[in-house]
Amino acid sequence: MSLQIARGRDAKPPLRPLRSKQNVRPQLQEATEQSTAAVPAKKAALRFPVNPDTKAFYRKFYPGTSTIEWNDWRWQMRARIRTLDELARIFHLSDDEYGAVKKHTGSLPVGITPYYASLMDPKDPREPLRRTHVMTGEEYLRGAGEDDDPLAEDHDTAAPGIVHRYPDRVLFLTTGTCSTYCRYCTRARVVGNPGGEYQFSVRQWEQALAYLEDHTEVRDVLMSGGDPLTLGDDKLDWLLGRLRAIKHIEFIRIGTKVPIVLPQRITKQLVAILKKHHPLWMSLHFTHPHELTDEVTESTARLADAGIPLGSQTVLLKGINDDIAVIKPLMLGLLKRRVRPYYLYQCDPIRGSAHFRTPVEKGLEIIQGLRGHTTGYATPIFAVDAPGGGGKVQITPDFVAGRDGDDLLLRNFEGDVYRYPDPGGTLGRDK
Ligand code: SF4
Repeated sequence: MSLQIARGRDAKPPLRPLRSKQNVRPQLQEATEQSTAAVPAKKAALRFPVNPDTKAFYRKFYPGTSTIEWNDWRWQMRARIRTLDELARIFHLSDDEYGAVKKHTGSLPVGITPYYASLMDPKDPREPLRRTHVMTGEEYLRGAGEDDDPLAEDHDTAAPGIVHRYPDRVLFLTTGTCSTYCRYCTRARVVGNPGGEYQFSVRQWEQALAYLEDHTEVRDVLMSGGDPLTLGDDKLDWLLGRLRAIKHIEFIRIGTKVPIVLPQRITKQLVAILKKHHPLWMSLHFTHPHELTDEVTESTARLADAGIPLGSQTVLLKGINDDIAVIKPLMLGLLKRRVRPYYLYQCDPIRGSAHFRTPVEKGLEIIQGLRGHTTGYATPIFAVDAPGGGGKVQITPDFVAGRDGDDLLLRNFEGDVYRYPDPGGTLGRDK
């Protein structure tokens, strides 16, 4: 079933809850209102950090902008860099970038928050964050095995926005909007294309919710998109409340890049809303240690302080983060910010992604460079999402060296072999 249900406008916040099941705890709602009233927006904006490089950037490129505006996530969303002219105002575009952006139509447009642009090198097209967000001509090449929907999500779509592949959990695509558009996005076909094939609306959410109410085997919902944290507070609160009101849903997760590319979105008001809907977990999409700024330290601290367990997911990208010297500081920096490294993904074979994809053994090499060499918590799971809808397949280094009679032979992180007494065991016999 296709996601295509309604065409046209983005979803609007419901004027009132559409069903009476919404489960808003009165005390918490009161607390939210009080805290919102107690913290005037201007003061709250001034309390959000601005790292020195970013400050220099916005004084240069947005000279009329106040700190209050800069730290207002809605201003950041409105001011996103979306056109060739805006890009060229900030970046010295290479001919390749210029031509690629000019040629682009349809989904996955250029879209970069001014904050995130401040982390990029305006002069060097090879700078890692810039490479992940400014398109190049390589995007227009189609490599072997590439597809617009490599994970066959459309095939597994059971209701509008609901991808039901695994037995007890679903992916809920809630919006087609992101604050920034990553050039390697698995959902390139879905995002950033209002009026295109994939649309999202409250009517579709209702159909998705009806599906979830009927499917009592679903205990875990991963909200993704697009980026659910680009939804306004009211919409998000409403949607989380509706999900939370479904008795058999035990667990809600949000997949988001917003705390990294638009950290100003993590307002105290948003955090108070999220806290009402526990147990709520988050998977944060990180790419590179350059993202670990003062602003991200603040956004992750606010989420962690709200009791939201934070995990990271990182896509392995050629020439961007496919190096232990890049991944290790990223993983350790995440731990310092109370984010548990969760997944390192092999880049999905979407159309035009060959220039981003590494050989699979590169991921194994990185895991081997972490495992045993640093804190165990810093080692994510390395996984390939099997094309065609096979689901995630974990790939791990093989630490079993063989067997010698009743002894299992194990290879440690330094390559040395040790014996473990394992009488009656068979593991390692075939090596
Ligand atoms: S934020 Fe996520 S959904 Fe949006 S473009 Fe990036 S990878 Fe795709």
